[in-house]
Amino acid sequence: AKKLDLERILQRQGFGTRKMCRILIINEEVTVNGELCSDPDATFALENLQFTIEGERWEYREHSYLMMHKPAHHECSHKTQFHPTIYSLLPPPLVERGIQCIGRLDEDTTGLILLSDDGQFIHKISSPKHHVPKIYEVTCKHPISDADLQGLLAGVKLIDEDQTIAALEITRVTESIIQMTLAEGKYHQVKRMIAAIGNRVDYLKRIKIGRLELPQDLQPGEWRWLTEQDLAALK
Ligand code: URA
Repeated sequence: AKKLDLERILQRQGFGTRKMCRILIINEEVTVNGELCSDPDATFALENLQFTIEGERWEYREHSYLMMHKPAHHECSHKTQFHPTIYSLLPPPLVERGIQCIGRLDEDTTGLILLSDDGQFIHKISSPKHHVPKIYEVTCKHPISDADLQGLLAGVKLIDEDQTIAALEITRVTESIIQMTLAEGKYHQVKRMIAAIGNRVDYLKRIKIGRLELPQDLQPGEWRWLTEQDLAALK
């Protein structure tokens, strides 16, 4: 099995420069697999490696895969102008490792967003070729008629787009709330489709990506690691 010195393990996991990690270790702030380790050059197998830093528990991960319940009034970019960034809701070492959200939600949109530092995974999930459908719960300002629903399913023409774009599936929840499944992720797509039928979006929440649902118990602003099962639901 691959072994690496502790200083480098921590650096790769996002805990600062090698020098900073060395100091943490020498200062006895680090335990590995349950035991204090104050030797920065001690080597460990990476598989099933558990460690704590200043009392916080971590496990070694080659890559990070996680989901977040995006809260409103947060932006999906690293440098934001008017609102806090969703990255401020994550532990700094994950951000240090280069975690990125997969597709963006608008500042006022809430719901399921995936994040990873695995470039291949990000590419696969976001590639239009891969067709991972996304389901949004759309609360509109005005009632939505059955004719509107037929229009969205048949395809509507967006401003600045040549081709029409259609919802894959729509379920009505109330007279002004629908759940809409989309194959693509064009800029402001839901809002523009709803505008195209002469209505407007009051509240937008993404509730599903592929077969992966936003868990009921994941509160706005919270995140969790994706399980094997979650990852399989994205295929
Ligand atoms: N469509 C939108 O209009 N906004 C989002 O945030 C996501 C999809």
